[in-house]
Amino acid sequence: ATPIAIMVGTGRGAELGVLIKRIETLERTKEITTVVFDKTGTLTHGEMTITDIVAAEGGDDEVLRRAGAVEAGSEHPIGRALAAVAAQRLGELPAAHGFDAPTGQGVRADVDGTTVLVGRRSWLAEQGMTVPEDVDEAVLRLESDGKTVVLAGWQGRVRGAVAMADTVKDNAAATVAELHDIGMTVAMLTGDNSRTAEAIARAVGIDRVLAEVHPGDKRAEIERLQSEGEVVAMVGDGINDAPALVQADLGISIGTGTDVAIESSDITLMRSDLHGVPQSIRLARRTYRTIQ
Ligand code: ADP
Ligand code: MG
Repeated sequence: ATPIAIMVGTGRGAELGVLIKRIETLERTKEITTVVFDKTGTLTHGEMTITDIVAAEGGDDEVLRRAGAVEAGSEHPIGRALAAVAAQRLGELPAAHGFDAPTGQGVRADVDGTTVLVGRRSWLAEQGMTVPEDVDEAVLRLESDGKTVVLAGWQGRVRGAVAMADTVKDNAAATVAELHDIGMTVAMLTGDNSRTAEAIARAVGIDRVLAEVHPGDKRAEIERLQSEGEVVAMVGDGINDAPALVQADLGISIGTGTDVAIESSDITLMRSDLHGVPQSIRLARRTYRTIQ
C-alpha cells in the first residue's frame, strides 16, 4: 500500500505546484515544528524601490552618482536598484575600477580616483568612516519603517544614505497565519539589520527574527534551532541560502529562485506562492495517515 499512497501524495503535490523530489522527504515533513523563511526574495519580492536619499553635505546627486557608479558592478537587488535609479536620474555614470563586494557587507570601488564604499553601517564604521549624526538619525528612522538603508562614504566620512523598500508578497501574512494554525513556530532569517527585519516580521506575524546574520552563518543558525530540539524547515531562494537549505530537516526552495537553492532543497514551490509551505506539511500529514 505504501507506494500507492505516496504516489497519490506527490501527484496531489504536483497539482498544488509543489515539487517533492524524494519520497522520503514527506516523512520528515510531517515532523516539522519550526519554519524559517529567508526575507529577501522569499517573504518579499526581492525588488527594491528607492524611497529616500539622505545627503550629509554636497547634495543628493553626488551621493547617487558615486554610489550608483560603484553599484553598477553589483548583482545584488540593492545594487541593481541603486544603479538603475542613478543612471535614470543622472544619465551616464562615471567608470568604477577595482570593484570588490565583501559578502553581506556592501561594495567598494574607485570612482574619480577616490575609493567609495556603499554598504551596511557597521561595515563602513569598521572601515574607519565617521558617521554624521544627522545621517545616523535618518537611518534609524527609515529602518524602523521597514526600509533597507545603505550608507555611501569616501575619504573617511559617510556622505549619505539611500533607503529602499521591498514589497512583502501578498500572501505572506496568510501563509504565516496558516502555519500558526497547524502549530508551527515561524521565524525569519536575514542579513538585513534588526530594525528593518522586525518591522517586516511584525507586518506578517512572524514569531522570531534572526537578523544581521552573515551569509556564511545562516547554516549555523539552523543548526542552533535544531540543537534546541526544533525540527526545522527552511524556505529560501538565494545562493546564500543553499547551506541552510541543506542543513535544515526540510529544505524548501522558491521555483523562481537561484539554481543553487533549487538543487539544495527537498521541495520546490513551482509558483513563487508561499502557500505551498503549509500545503506541503498538510499533504505530508495526510499522506502518512493514509499509509499507517
Ligand atoms: P539578505 O539576507 O537580506 O538577502 P544579504 O546577506 O545579501 O541580505 O546582505 C546583507 C546586507 O549587506 C544588506 O542588507 C546590505 O546592508 C549589505 N549589502 C549587500 N549587498 C550590498 C550591495 N550591493 N550594496 C550595498 N549594500 C549591500
Ligand atoms: Mg533571498
